[in-house]
This record gives sequence, C-alpha cells and structure tokens, in this order.
Amino acid sequence: RTVYVNGEYLPEADAKISIFDRGFLMADGVYEVTSVLGGKLIDFEGHALRLQRSLSELDMVEPLGRDELLEIHRELVRLNAIEDGMIYLQVTRGSAGDRDFVFPDPETTRPTVVLFTQDKPGMADTPVAKVGIKVISIDDIRWGRRDIKTVQLLYPSMGKMMAKAAGADDAWMVEDGQVTEGTSNNAYIVKGNKIITRELSSDILHGITRAAVLRFAREAQMEVEERSFTIDEAKQADEAFVTSASTFVMPVVEIDGAKIGTGAPGTVAPRLREIYLDESRKAAI
Ligand code: PMP
Repeated sequence: RTVYVNGEYLPEADAKISIFDRGFLMADGVYEVTSVLGGKLIDFEGHALRLQRSLSELDMVEPLGRDELLEIHRELVRLNAIEDGMIYLQVTRGSAGDRDFVFPDPETTRPTVVLFTQDKPGMADTPVAKVGIKVISIDDIRWGRRDIKTVQLLYPSMGKMMAKAAGADDAWMVEDGQVTEGTSNNAYIVKGNKIITRELSSDILHGITRAAVLRFAREAQMEVEERSFTIDEAKQADEAFVTSASTFVMPVVEIDGAKIGTGAPGTVAPRLREIYLDESRKAAI
C-alpha cells in the first residue's frame, strides 16, 4: 500500500512517526473514515467539516484545507487503485520531542497527518446486510465528549470483543438506561412507520451517515423522531439498524438474544440502505 504521512506518499513500510507523538502516548488525535464506492468518495464534505470541528474543539490547528484533503484522498484512491473501500485519516497534535501533559506550542509543533486506504471490494453488496447483525448491550463508560471523533477507541474495541465473546457482532452502549450508540455506529429502531434515533448532543458522535440517512428518510416521507430509547423498547421494536460510513445502513436482528420483529431484516432498513447507496453514489466525488 502507498500511504500518506505529513506531505509524502510512501510505501507503508517506510512510513514513520515519532514515539513521542501525542496520538501514540495520549490518544491526542482525531480521525475520519470516508468510504469509496466505484472509485469515488462518499460524503467527503461531511467528513471534512466534522474533522474541522473535532480539531477546533480540541484547540488543534487545521493542518490542511478542504481542497488539499480532497486531493490527498483522491491521490490515494488512484495510487492504490481502490474501487470500493475506505480512506482512514488521522490528525494528531504531533510531538514536542518529550512526554508532557501540557499541550505543546502550536506555533512550533506541527500536527501529524496520516492517511491510508483499506481495500474492500464489493463492500456495498456484503451478504451480511441480507441477514443483519446481532448486538448485545453494554454500559457506556466512555468520556463525555463523544461528539469529538478522537482516536480513544479502547472501550469501543473492548465492546466489540464482549460482543464476539457473547456470539454477537457488535454492542450498543447504554447510559442512564438509554441507548447512546453502537461501538462504531449510530443506533436506530423502527416502530410502525417511525424511525427513532437518539438526538444529537455530546453523548454521541454526530454520524455523517446518520445525517444523510435521516435526510433521505424525510425526503421519502418517512417519519423520523430524534429521541433516546431503552433496550426494552428496542426489543419490542419492529426493526432496528445501525449506520456508519463503513457499513452504510445495517439491519440489527437480535438484541441481547431477543429477536427483533421476525428475526430477519424488515422493510425499512433495507429500503434506507438502498436509497442511501443510490443517492450517495450519485453524489460521490
Ligand atoms: N458512532 C460512533 C461511536 C462511531 O465510531 C461512528 C463511526 N466512526 C459512528 C457513530 C458513525 O459515524 P459515521 O456515519 O460518520 O461513520
């Protein structure tokens, strides 16, 4: 693979980062994942805007403008001949050559910018979407600024491991009795004709896919209610699903061992998946 590190395109084996990088020592960094379908970027503008916001919330300087970012994304797609897959982008606060809790001077410390591709041929046609996934519920013990897309992914990773150990695919996190989100996706239930998903706040990541899916749902005259819900309510729902840049819209067919609806994907989630993929491919750049 050819990767991008601080202005250079390199073979991945030649890419180097300082051991003092604050991303490595302190998870002091943010990231974005943008999907590629048919060699084009899905929702690039949304990801670029959220990156800008994450950096600003952490008082980090923006290392690259939107146009440069787009150019790097496209160049990596080209160099790695990605038809379908993902581009991972990470910006950390960089390194001042030592370990210190105090942020280094932004005038003299340059952020570390890394991008690499992940090749996923045919990712939009994954057979998993036909059968749906199983989730378990776990306590949400993450920090209180989940709206910032930081690289602090240890607990979400542990959640995935807990799910695997329980024979499931993923975990939904619960705080004060209400579902916040999945380990790496936003969570939804469907009751009757209504799509229910938690409202935006610092308790969840403001998913780029979430924004697009809710817009398409409203345009298709589906009813959307932005509010939190419990695991019990989810178990009684007609359908459940998750959204993310890498899974698009994915039906959830079981929660904590209880079947949702018939235990197979319903009609709303597969329809939203189709609309999302169609519209996103049309708008891809
Ligand atoms: N919530 C969390 C915790 C996530 O990690 C992600 C994906 N990175 C999402 C939601 C979905 O966000 P997006 O649609 O922008 O990929």
